[in-house]
Amino acid sequence: MAVVIDGKQVAQSYRLKLKEEVARLKEQRIQPKLTVILIGEDPASQSYVRGKEKAAQEIGMDSDLIRLPAETTESELLHLIERLNVDASVHGILVQLPLPQHIDESKVIFAIAPEKDVDGFHPVSVGKMMIGEPTFLPCTPNGILHLVKEMNVPIAGRHVVVVGRSQIVGKPVGMLFLNESATVTYCHSKTADLAAMTRQADILIVAVGVPKLITADMVKPDAVVIDVGVNRVDGKLVGDVEFETVQEVASMITPVPGGVGPMTITMLLHNTIEAAK
Ligand code: NDP
Repeated sequence: MAVVIDGKQVAQSYRLKLKEEVARLKEQRIQPKLTVILIGEDPASQSYVRGKEKAAQEIGMDSDLIRLPAETTESELLHLIERLNVDASVHGILVQLPLPQHIDESKVIFAIAPEKDVDGFHPVSVGKMMIGEPTFLPCTPNGILHLVKEMNVPIAGRHVVVVGRSQIVGKPVGMLFLNESATVTYCHSKTADLAAMTRQADILIVAVGVPKLITADMVKPDAVVIDVGVNRVDGKLVGDVEFETVQEVASMITPVPGGVGPMTITMLLHNTIEAAK
């Protein structure tokens, strides 16, 4: 039976360290501040944003939420970002995704000053990550890497199979594990035989958004399974992995909720403190 990785607990102890760092910065008269921009009324986004605000406050960080109506134009949003880019009291800028259809997501991400890009989505951040230079790492991938290291799972030389190749999770998480000398395989919707790939994984990372996509027969005995998926089924949150059966095969597994999610917010706080420094 797999050890269930307690993301909440790992996140909590990391946040205690961050709280001390915020206190040290305050002694130097630096008040770290995160500004979050939320456009529209998407319920999931509202809940994510609330979680981020609460977590920031808990460690003594200032957080400012700018709520804008769904009809906000692209140029209004770009002007707001320009203003925040030059506001010395703001260290981190996060635009909650997804954006309404009439706004070009790439344009908005490109507009954020790289030194305030605490989501790690700006091409400058992505490029630096790619060549292994210090930068803001994207929060969910970095949270996953931290969780795996915290569980003392060896990475170098192990086979990491990533299911999903999005810009915010799949692609960068594979890159971070490659930078740690893992052998990395990417799978996606066009992968011919997904199970044949996932069965080779020492560490299986699943970021797809399809409930119960990964079943026990797709997992190698004693693999470490990281479930990034967040799906709402009958009012309940479930991951992309069939937890009950995979738990019987894997050596470690993250639950949903309480696995990767708390680490994502923690890495956002980490990046904002780095930005303030
Ligand atoms: P995207 O929709 O952007 O990407 C999904 C990926 O899964 C794509 O690469 C797609 O392939 C691939 N895919 C879709 N269907 C299959 C399939 N049947 N077999 C194999 N691959 C498939 O999603 P995100 O990366 O943004 O998010 C993934 C999940 O993670 C979601 O449930 C999301 O809610 C969750 N999430 C959780 C976070 C957390 O903090 N816990 C943070 C961010 C996301 P293709 O490229 O070919 O279309």
